[in-house]
Amino acid sequence: MLQQAPRFDVAGAAQLARDLYGLDSTASLLPSERDQNFLLTAASGERFILKIANAGETRELLDAQNAALSHVAPLGLCPRVCATRDGRRIARAPSGHFVRLLSWLPGSPLGGLDARPDSLLEDLGHKLGELSGALAGFDHPAIHRDFHWDLSRGFDVVEAYAPLIDDPALRGLVLRTAGHVRARDGRRLAWQRRAAIHGDANDFNLLVVADDPGAPRVSGIIDFGDMVHSYTVAEPAIAIAYAVLDRPDPLGAGAAILRGYHAAHPLTDDEIPLLFGLVQLRLCVSVCLAASQQRQRPDDGYLSISQEPIRRMLPTLAAIHPDAAEEAFRSACGLRLPPPAPSVPKAATLTRRRERLGPNLRLAYTDPLKVARGWMQYLYDDSGVRYLDAYNNVPHAGHAHPRIVQAAVDQMRALNTNTRYLHDMIWRFAGRLCATLPEPLAVCYFVNSGSEANELALRLARAHTGARDLVVLDGAYHGHTTTLIEVSPYKFNGPGGSGAPGWVHVAPIPDDYRGAYRRGDPEAGRKFGDTIGGIVDGLRSRECALAGFICETWPSVGGQIVPPPGYLEAAYRHVRAAGGLCIADEVQTAYGRTGAGFYAFESQQVVPDIVVLGKPIGNGYPLGAVVTTREIAASFDNGMEFFSTFGGSTVSCAVGLATLETVQDEELQAHAARVGAGLRAGLDDLAARHEVIGDVRGVGLFVGVELVRDRLTLEPASTEAALVVDRLRDRGILLGTEGPFDNVLKIRPPMPFGEHDADRLVATLDHALRDLR
Ligand code: PMP
Repeated sequence: MLQQAPRFDVAGAAQLARDLYGLDSTASLLPSERDQNFLLTAASGERFILKIANAGETRELLDAQNAALSHVAPLGLCPRVCATRDGRRIARAPSGHFVRLLSWLPGSPLGGLDARPDSLLEDLGHKLGELSGALAGFDHPAIHRDFHWDLSRGFDVVEAYAPLIDDPALRGLVLRTAGHVRARDGRRLAWQRRAAIHGDANDFNLLVVADDPGAPRVSGIIDFGDMVHSYTVAEPAIAIAYAVLDRPDPLGAGAAILRGYHAAHPLTDDEIPLLFGLVQLRLCVSVCLAASQQRQRPDDGYLSISQEPIRRMLPTLAAIHPDAAEEAFRSACGLRLPPPAPSVPKAATLTRRRERLGPNLRLAYTDPLKVARGWMQYLYDDSGVRYLDAYNNVPHAGHAHPRIVQAAVDQMRALNTNTRYLHDMIWRFAGRLCATLPEPLAVCYFVNSGSEANELALRLARAHTGARDLVVLDGAYHGHTTTLIEVSPYKFNGPGGSGAPGWVHVAPIPDDYRGAYRRGDPEAGRKFGDTIGGIVDGLRSRECALAGFICETWPSVGGQIVPPPGYLEAAYRHVRAAGGLCIADEVQTAYGRTGAGFYAFESQQVVPDIVVLGKPIGNGYPLGAVVTTREIAASFDNGMEFFSTFGGSTVSCAVGLATLETVQDEELQAHAARVGAGLRAGLDDLAARHEVIGDVRGVGLFVGVELVRDRLTLEPASTEAALVVDRLRDRGILLGTEGPFDNVLKIRPPMPFGEHDADRLVATLDHALRDLR
């Protein structure tokens, strides 16, 4: 039985060289992961590399390597293969291991070089392009192989090995990144040209000489052990993946390599958009395969150290809009850029908007932001500056999520029509949605917004109960329609409002920081719930019938409030005893945002009669839904048709389904729980150091930080909150304020918001709060 790795000592290697090649030399061992490589120095001073192959290596593959080396020999970039005394180019050691002797190339590994000027990277790309050019005419049966480093198998490798990554944050990042690349590029990749590629142009397989110390250049490309027949574009992608590690400007470094590569071996218009995804996929594959090796060699500390630069780079790359990467790469190749969307300067945009739009359409920030792109948890302004979006919960799975975009495009191309025709998209989405909700919530209605969904919820409640009156929470917002303004104290008690109509009854918001019952009181939830009992008793005494109680499960506009335990249980009991229905407005909190449940009501151990969904369920596409019981749906079926032209359209259902599948497949609820816990810890720590933080509340990625001037009187620090929001924006983070006094910082980011984003947010907030002093 052959040992996997050969174990020759230097004397043994020198002896082999003598016996097989008639070469008298001294040997020294070179580092190698799988094989044994010796540097041999002959008496004449001539140098060679003796390669003793790993036992797993097949003769066919070594033969392919030799053939490729001969094929590319005219480039003068790669080693030549030397024959044994009897003319063989693959020999066998007495141990059975295959042995080859290669010529030595001058230079030292690129890995040993700290400074890498763009000229060196461009030269690297050029040499690699020359190699691709030469390999384009090469083939060998052995390189058509099932090989886990082959990027054309990358998605399968990630799927198979990512579960072995121990660190949940890294595992999630790898799965999401590879998933996004697959959704964006998967189909186009399958069509790309293929050729023999070296497949491993990493820092240790590229040799560099610096005859002129100011202008180092690539002198050799070695180790063809990963050669495979794969995408041509994978070759530069792999080189870029390794060369950009720990570079402050990865796109710039990648562009330099590409400039050189493209000059020597032009990529096609179709290949360039795929490069950036392949760079990311290569790093994901590397993390996955390292995790698998780590399982086999748990004591090998080097494995995890060598992965550190990749761990650092993955979030950086994940923050780059793929279109921006494509543009950088296209311009590096001197190719035409897609024409920019027509745009006017920010000031003109503002003026034109004012001319044509209602004056009460507000803008965030005194100096408004003109955004041009969104990617996951980031927004880019019109000059390309990136902002961390820490409060927009509408693009729930991430701005421009490629899987959702693709679903919309595909369905838009095929068909977009209404619910009067049969189509499979609607029942699929409805079924998957109902599966996330407890019994007896089993019937869906689809509309186009949160407002429409709440309107419909009110109609359902009235149809079922025959009553009109409604209990609402103080500070609540449920939508912009005439009726919803009437049930939204945030509006009817705010500027321009005209108070509650007679059929609307306002209960206190269950705020255990500022409200009548405080956090130390274990009965606070029940007591807040009993305030609804009081309202209901009053209605009863006036013989008013109750249609229901509508409540944002965790009031958001009201100040990012998390009701104390037992609140909804008590509230729902009183409402139901009075014959009313319980409507949960989950527009802000659905789809795992709280980390604790898929819906916020789960944390209150209740099941509503009607659930209202909006914002996140279409990931930005206008989509709302109402889910209720069969009984209530039957009451609503009173002869009047329910129809919404766009509600439940084929495209909206395709988008809804893709969004839900994405949230579930990417395990965004667990992600929110984990990242939220770290964020809370960071914010709690800030609260211990900054008097102005009166309260930090929230779970998962639904968090509020309430600023006060005095921790006893709770005087709201509203001006300070506005200042903090501005300062954060100046430092590239977008946050908003909420609450009746606008003194609560709301943190409700797109769900891909990660640990590094949370750390940055906490550190930046720390600065901004210090500046207040
Ligand atoms: N309900 C709640 C809790 C909301 O926050 C909102 C919007 N902010 C709505 C309903 C209304 O949704 P839309 O703007 O989609 O009509």
